[in-house]
Amino acid sequence: MFDLIDLHTHSLHSDGLLSPTALVALAATRGLKVLALTDHDSIAGCAEAHAACSAAGIGFVSGVELTAGWPMRGGGTIEIHVVGLGIDLEHPALVTHLSAQAQRRAMRVASIGAKLARERDFAGWDPATELLAQPMTPTRMHIARALVARGLARDPQHAFDRWLSRGKPGYTTSQWPEVAATVRLIGECRGHSALAHAHRYKLSHCALHELVAAFAAAGGNALEVSLPGMSQNETARIGALARSFGLAGSVGSDFHEPGLPWRPLGRFAKLPDQIAPLLARLSPR
Ligand code: AMP
Ligand code: MN
Ligand code: MN
Ligand code: MN
Repeated sequence: MFDLIDLHTHSLHSDGLLSPTALVALAATRGLKVLALTDHDSIAGCAEAHAACSAAGIGFVSGVELTAGWPMRGGGTIEIHVVGLGIDLEHPALVTHLSAQAQRRAMRVASIGAKLARERDFAGWDPATELLAQPMTPTRMHIARALVARGLARDPQHAFDRWLSRGKPGYTTSQWPEVAATVRLIGECRGHSALAHAHRYKLSHCALHELVAAFAAAGGNALEVSLPGMSQNETARIGALARSFGLAGSVGSDFHEPGLPWRPLGRFAKLPDQIAPLLARLSPR
């Protein structure tokens, strides 16, 4: 039923709620054999997660979920996530890339805050100010939680729907690196890249095909074929794309917090037999 692995998870170094140690403790209670930590544009939790995995007898894969931009036919860009796995955490190109991402994220969150502060309901309150004083990667999820705490949204999803999603009053993007450049960076750092949650992008069949073609042409390695909440149709569709471009399949929960039962750590359907597992190319430590 399940692969006892999870190659897509978050900690409080980005928008997850658990420390790396607590995440690994939960992975141990779920009986996981291999775990990757893939925080948004951050590797800050990897050393702690690695140590905790070693102590718990779980194989650790270093990881990161990099934000990239993809131009749309009708103009504008959408944000695409590329997971880098087995990456060399000390590679200078990675360190440089992450510090540039941190600057882009800080500017983006400040700009979202400034836009929201101008809205009638906000009475000048800027949700970015406190966030930017904290050490983790600032994400829209943190702003969503702040809006819930202030009573401006019922729950984070409502905050996205009302304020933060593309087209809503607080939406701002950034000059993210291109998908192909992001894939090449991961390769340069000896990592393997998986295009994250391709089924969630709001792209036509044709546009998704173009994205996967560009990802594969740049040297991308896998698509995320099995995540919790993916329908059989979605797994079949993404699996077919992986096969037609000679890509492997990656699996993970995109776990953020124990309170979200729809993204349970380590619990998602097994990779279909016809798909080559990316795990086979990784060397958990
Ligand atoms: P960011 O990376 O700053 O764009 O923040 C996006 C994060 O917010 C994602 O990684 C998800 O964890 C979370 N999220 C929750 N609901 C949504 C939504 N409806 N749209 C986009 N992101 C969402
Ligand atoms: Mn997230
Ligand atoms: Mn993502
Ligand atoms: Mn994620």
